[in-house]
Amino acid sequence: MTKILRTISELRAWRNALPAGSRLGLVPTMGALHVGHISLMDLARTHCDTVIVSIFVNPLQFGANEDLARYPRPLEKDISMLEAAGVDALFLPEHTEVYLADNSTYVDEEAVSLPLCGALRPGHFRGVATVVLKLFNLTQPHFAFFGQKDAQQCAVIERMVRDLNVPVDIVRGAIIREEDGLAMSSRNVYLQAIPPRRCASPLPEPFCGLRGL
Ligand code: AMP
Repeated sequence: MTKILRTISELRAWRNALPAGSRLGLVPTMGALHVGHISLMDLARTHCDTVIVSIFVNPLQFGANEDLARYPRPLEKDISMLEAAGVDALFLPEHTEVYLADNSTYVDEEAVSLPLCGALRPGHFRGVATVVLKLFNLTQPHFAFFGQKDAQQCAVIERMVRDLNVPVDIVRGAIIREEDGLAMSSRNVYLQAIPPRRCASPLPEPFCGLRGL
């Protein structure tokens, strides 16, 4: 049975009740779970005695014109998947539980986060690093698991952990893909299948559905 923790005080009480010496693994997510997420939970189980998953659609990492409002939130299905995966606890906070109205402290990584997605999505990695550090402080895991699919995110978090001496081991999980090679993602529901014959894109076929994004 996955224990659902909605508040910081519930999380802290659950954390404090874990047996001394038990190794805790955290898998941070934004929900709309798929096999890629589950692979991280399975990986966490191989390193840890207890596994906690967080589901939090972090407003701080979304740009003004991004998909925060329509990000998929199939919560009941997610909870069934966590139960089936044998996850011990789910941290499921409201936005107001995570950020006080006058929050004024952020984490800025200033090298690894600058190119690539960082250049295209200003503020994105500041939002990611800030929420991940908060999740580390709240959960105090021994290990935390991140997908190699988001390789730059892994690099930013590893750099933050190194630079701020955060006492957690970061473990990268392999990319899990659909049969056609597309990396699984919660946002794949936004993609349309385009019949290969009508695809005028110069991209190889598996990527044709990405046109127009
Ligand atoms: P998200 O819910 O998209 O924020 O992802 C939560 C975690 O799952 C992140 O560490 C992602 O890198 C990881 N993840 C997402 N999709 C995949 C995938 N296809 N394979 C492996 N890890 C993934």
